[in-house]
Amino acid sequence: RLAEAQRLKPQREALPVYAGREAILRGIRENDTVVVLAETGSGKTTQIPQFLIRSDIPRASPRVVCTQPRRVAAISLAQRVAAETGCVLGTTVGYTVRFDDRSSPKTRLKYATDGTLLAEMLSDRDLDAYDVVVLDEAHERSLRTDMLMGFLKDIQKRRKAKFAEFKAKGKQVANGNAGDDDDAQTKQPREPSELKIVVMSATIDAKRFSEFFDSAPVLYVSGRQHKVTIKYVDEPQDDYVDASIKTIVQIHQHYPPGSILVFLPGQDEIEGMVASLRAYLPDIEKNLAKKGQITIAPLFAKLPAAEQAKAFVPAGPNERKVIIATNIAETSVTIPGVRFVIDSGMAKEKRYHAGTGIDSLATEPISQSSAKQRAGRAGRESDGWCFRLYTETAYQHMEKRSQPEIQRVSLSFALLHLKAAGQEDVYNFSYMDAPSVTSIQGALHRLHGLGALGEKSRITPLGRQMAQLPLDPIFSRVLLEAFRQGCPREVIDLVSLLGVKDQLIINTSATREQANEARQKFTHRSGDHLFLINILRAYEELDGTDEKKAWCKDNYISYKAMQLALDSRKQLRERAERLDLGDWEDTLNDEPEPIIASLVAGLFANAATKQPDDSYRNMMTKQVVTIHPSSTVFSKKPLGIIYDELALTTKTYARGVSIVDPRLLPRQAPGVFNALRKQL
Ligand code: ADP
Ligand code: MG
Repeated sequence: RLAEAQRLKPQREALPVYAGREAILRGIRENDTVVVLAETGSGKTTQIPQFLIRSDIPRASPRVVCTQPRRVAAISLAQRVAAETGCVLGTTVGYTVRFDDRSSPKTRLKYATDGTLLAEMLSDRDLDAYDVVVLDEAHERSLRTDMLMGFLKDIQKRRKAKFAEFKAKGKQVANGNAGDDDDAQTKQPREPSELKIVVMSATIDAKRFSEFFDSAPVLYVSGRQHKVTIKYVDEPQDDYVDASIKTIVQIHQHYPPGSILVFLPGQDEIEGMVASLRAYLPDIEKNLAKKGQITIAPLFAKLPAAEQAKAFVPAGPNERKVIIATNIAETSVTIPGVRFVIDSGMAKEKRYHAGTGIDSLATEPISQSSAKQRAGRAGRESDGWCFRLYTETAYQHMEKRSQPEIQRVSLSFALLHLKAAGQEDVYNFSYMDAPSVTSIQGALHRLHGLGALGEKSRITPLGRQMAQLPLDPIFSRVLLEAFRQGCPREVIDLVSLLGVKDQLIINTSATREQANEARQKFTHRSGDHLFLINILRAYEELDGTDEKKAWCKDNYISYKAMQLALDSRKQLRERAERLDLGDWEDTLNDEPEPIIASLVAGLFANAATKQPDDSYRNMMTKQVVTIHPSSTVFSKKPLGIIYDELALTTKTYARGVSIVDPRLLPRQAPGVFNALRKQL
């Protein structure tokens, strides 16, 4: 192990961050908070925490935690750094991610996901277990990193006060084993220390971080970035998997040796491309035999660790490696030997669907700053090339930088998470991008109605459960209700379908009539929600991709949207299992009532009843709503309805409508509603 650490030493010492070691440590010693800026691959994540544990900042033998937005990165970085320091993983260097803890009281440097550190704050409010918190990948502005930044500002102040008080009382109070490596093992409380914060980022948005932390100094580490030649396609490509394979062949034929890093949006695309490329390989290699062998390594979050590790093994002398990755490889992990980047220009992003209020993973164009990061991966070791599978015009139309996640997910989702993390007062939280007071009010009101908040706006046990689901609180509530109603299987299906419903049903004006006729067989007496479930049921009866695609075509249903829905269903089922919510396979089959009752639990504010003049009015707001003509309920004129979306066009249209007995609808939120729920 020590021999391995010795072997890695020269590599580490050659990293740009190593040259800046003294300046970085001085900066951290002299300031409460610093922002460190360096290109990806400079050694920020692996080296700076190591410098710190060997320093006496802010005390002898400091304890350091370094956060990562992604689980994969936390694990692989801890493994790498344990190897560099020559220790067994889980001793001096370890990691903690959800459901997997490889750390011990001896651990001095811990890599953790931002979510895990937030969870630790619930039992260690001031993070007294650590002397330095390193917030890594801050430029990604993940919801949880933003939350941590806000919390840490207050924690730092409290720690300063505690430390000052401790010093004033005199050190004789504590019994003098400060900084002793063994203190945690002997369960002695550690002496208070001030908390140092190090914010690390790869892009140039440092000013925001510095301003947020009261003008914290910014330390720039200049890296070695070699020249990267950017190449665009002339025409937009609609199949980036196919375009990627063609580009790989060209590179292999005409360009020098070096690994190729391909950025695709997600696991499905990666698995598809791996399969296609494997099929083509014998042909490519037969024609280009002299050029050496091509090997393939996929890399995405859900890939088993042993498979992931293959992506990091350097290529052999006669080998060209093709690493096919998600945006994990954009900034958080480093893959050696990459000289070529193929960029699809797409990524899967969590996005709030304003209509249904569901947070879902959507495949979307990346931002210019992501595109630059991706290209930069080709120039880490020597000159490189980046092939963008989009036009230069498309690049110019991309957003400058990605929107912070806190603005992409629903506000009630973000606030529920703040509450779950212990922030009672969500108005006075230190937001980097603060929402308006009225929107906070609205979101809190909604959370009350859902039963997530109770007296004095405290989070309820139900609210805590809701915070564990990756959905807008409305649909977390619907899903939890489904477990009580005995229909989780159907409701998981439904929630997954609602996340893609805009793309799912294909309705062009030219084909509307045939389409409606073809889909007539899926209609259900209770309305649009069971109609969606019926579509999925029919789809699941089919075998094989070809048959499924043909069926989709015949029924004017998007195959791609269907795949996306199945993807989120898989995630939701896994989450339900992990959270022990009950058996998701429970099903009451064709009874619509429990499903509708589950919907009502979350969507009670979207209920309307028929008036004597045949119009519909929302039961709480008294607003007039019109059932959208595309609804399967349109011509039925039921007495009561519940809808998942309100669309404002020429009229206020209710979309996604199911029929419900008006007697079961709450007239006001939420207390009365809870009493009613018991009757359901
Ligand atoms: P940064 O955080 O600045 O992007 P890192 O500290 O993650 O940089 O990586 C620094 C260097 O360490 C990389 O350029 C790479 O050479 C090496 N490295 C990091 N992780 C691994 C790994 N898992 N396997 C092999 N080399 C690695
Ligand atoms: Mg890093």
